[in-house]
Amino acid sequence: MSAEIIDGKAFAAKVRAKVASHVARLKADHDIQPGLAVVLVGEDPASQVYVRSKGKMTVEVGMNSYEHKLAADTPEADVLALIERLNNDADVHGILVQLPLPDHMNEDLVVNAVDPAKDVDGFSISNVGLLATGQKTMVPCTPLGCLMMLREHHGSLSGLDAVVIGRSNIVGKPMAALLLGDSCTVTIAHSRTKDLPDVVRRADIVVAAVGRAEMVLGDWIKPGATVIDVGINRIDAPERGEGKTRLVGDVDFDSAVDVAGAITPVPGGVGPMTIACLLANTVTACSRANGLKEPEGLTV
Ligand code: NAD
Repeated sequence: MSAEIIDGKAFAAKVRAKVASHVARLKADHDIQPGLAVVLVGEDPASQVYVRSKGKMTVEVGMNSYEHKLAADTPEADVLALIERLNNDADVHGILVQLPLPDHMNEDLVVNAVDPAKDVDGFSISNVGLLATGQKTMVPCTPLGCLMMLREHHGSLSGLDAVVIGRSNIVGKPMAALLLGDSCTVTIAHSRTKDLPDVVRRADIVVAAVGRAEMVLGDWIKPGATVIDVGINRIDAPERGEGKTRLVGDVDFDSAVDVAGAITPVPGGVGPMTIACLLANTVTACSRANGLKEPEGLTV
């Protein structure tokens, strides 16, 4: 039996449409235009691509996009001063500092300089603490997108066994906190986990966020389980021609699709949801900042 393919691209389009309609209402009813500021330091090519596509989608849903591109050798104090200005700018409702930052900067210091109310990445210590204690917060975009897809597919997640592979601060840990918040029984697996295949075999929900191409095999998956593949790995694809590459996830899709009940593809699964959730967080932050009702279904 072949798994249902969870179409992250189509779902992300729906989320963006919801964001756009809320933005339109904010403008029409309150004369408020949400704004997202992105700070990019340096010339990392992948970061430049991400920032361009974030800016484009921000404008497409009707929000203002403010891009601040700084040279790689910008002193940390200048970046902190810019963040302070954005914190105090009433037209900016969300601030995203594109990571990684150059080596001479203290990433924790810079990330925590962002006003938690505008921290649409949800990486600041106070937002992490609110998430961990089950309070209203800004939820990191990638795990938020995963949770939205899981809720859409399952309805209630209560009582399901979930295994999150990976314990990073940006994906694994917040993902586990969200699943716990939805009353799953959660296991966090990582590089030191003993007998990972056996741990994964117990799960009704598997979230793979490792960064190792096609590591999770079909015979690790419990029949009928839902598999969310966060990994983005570029591998050689000689079958497409000399020097060609392609993107794959952390799950071996071809073997997993025969066993799982549902699975996200790579590309076209979690990736598109991440940017959609960034836009969702920005409109949520804007509503909160203005004491207005939050859009439904765009946050937890
Ligand atoms: P990370 O490197 O910070 O963390 C990887 C985690 O995997 C670590 O906690 C580590 O313990 C665990 N790990 C490493 N080797 C392992 C093994 N052999 N067995 C079990 N666990 C192992 O990575 P990250 O930032 O969490 O990202 C993970 C993947 O998700 C990457 O491929 C990244 O590109 C991708 N990603 C995708 C999106 C998206 O929008 N789709 C967003 C963020 C990250």
